[in-house]
Amino acid sequence: MLNWRRIKLSVVVVLSLGLTIFATTPYRPLHAEEALRVGFAKVDITPSQPTPMAGYYHGRLSTETHDPLWCRAVVIDDGANKAAIITLDLISTTRWMTVESRKMIERVSGIPAANVMISATHTHTGPSLHEPNSTRYMEMIQVPSTELYMTQLPGKIADCVNAALSNLQATHPHYAIGVEEKLTFNRRFFMEDGTVGWNPGKLNAKIVREAGPTDDTLPLVAWMDEKQQPQGVMLNYCIHLDTVGGTQWSADMPHTLIESLESVFGSDKHIQYATACCGDLNHIDVRSASPQKGHGEAARIGVRLSGAALRALPNFVAAKGSKLHVTSQTVPLNVFEHSPERVAWAESIAEKSKQQPQPSFWDMVEAFRILDNQFRENKPYDVEVQVISVGRDVAWVALSGEVFVQLGMDIKAGSPFRLTAIHELANGSIGYIPTREAYGQGNYEVISARCAEGSGELLVQSAIAQLREHFSIQASKE
Ligand SMILES: [Zn+2]
Repeated sequence: MLNWRRIKLSVVVVLSLGLTIFATTPYRPLHAEEALRVGFAKVDITPSQPTPMAGYYHGRLSTETHDPLWCRAVVIDDGANKAAIITLDLISTTRWMTVESRKMIERVSGIPAANVMISATHTHTGPSLHEPNSTRYMEMIQVPSTELYMTQLPGKIADCVNAALSNLQATHPHYAIGVEEKLTFNRRFFMEDGTVGWNPGKLNAKIVREAGPTDDTLPLVAWMDEKQQPQGVMLNYCIHLDTVGGTQWSADMPHTLIESLESVFGSDKHIQYATACCGDLNHIDVRSASPQKGHGEAARIGVRLSGAALRALPNFVAAKGSKLHVTSQTVPLNVFEHSPERVAWAESIAEKSKQQPQPSFWDMVEAFRILDNQFRENKPYDVEVQVISVGRDVAWVALSGEVFVQLGMDIKAGSPFRLTAIHELANGSIGYIPTREAYGQGNYEVISARCAEGSGELLVQSAIAQLREHFSIQASKE
């Protein structure tokens, strides 16, 4: 059993230590010409009535709230341009939600639609999403409470951005990259029989080794006021948020992560977490027999990750430059092809999935992929890759899917910025985006992926090209 009081006590000790180190950073007054203005806000987006929950291949209805689901926003204003970076405690974002929210934000706040980045943390204890006029088969399952939730969501996101816009204050970004090596694990493994296994289970003796890497870095951006105190902190990490389960609404691990950091910086400070590339990662350590499900486990992860953020505090440095730049590129991705004969099979599986006993998990995964792509007549997915930079040290990249970690690492390796934060499930989602290598190995994420082999690498190319362009533009602005 976890001794929660003891964990809390040690966190307070670590946290106080961190704050002391932070407070001794030499004071460096902001020059007027480099002072950005940044505003922060959060809005509760927990459904107000029992609503179907997301996350699994079987339906379940919410019963109560463990902790609220939040929309959080940071609005950045460099005097000439504005941008908003928004995160949602939801399973995903949809394109409809993105387009509608951007339109409302532009109308209400004047921030150009193209300068808005919206990502989801991927909590599995949030509501199911529905896309009106969907071309995705699974999103066509619709009930009135889900529809009501979705139609109200863009308004709430726009309200959040507006609230952030109304409290802009002079600030300057500082950045640091923390490390936490013990929380995230690749979930694909080379097995003794030569196959690549997916979530093969704890202490499985047939595991040879991981089939992919992990990214243990924790990019942090702190928005400092003129007294060098953080008014807001943005952070992201590569871990899959399916720790809690059950029928209570919960943000999963970020709930405790943010609560821990608020206890250090102050509950009036803004802490915003985003999920980075973790399409083939999760929190399960197969080399340990300990159970890893429930709120206690989510708290363990959140508290430990907050410790990694605090250990990085002494490393914060002021970012160079303060100009904002935003670009997006639409990358057409071919669909994962299927033979015409498979459509009738997929339809029969989808029909059977509505009754008990359900078809096998693997049949449902493949059938839903085939029907999604068939429904859109196998036309390519137009996927947005968006980049926001402030000065020439810090950039954010938005990718629309559950992206394999290696692809995120490739973007970071090719980025000229000192800190590149990647937000996945951003501005819509096309589901899993595996590496080219993984397509040859198969298993769950590949069977589920709507896009064709090589898609992920095209997104990496686009992101790196934009980051390089940003870097040279930012350098010329200094
Ligand atoms: Zn998931």
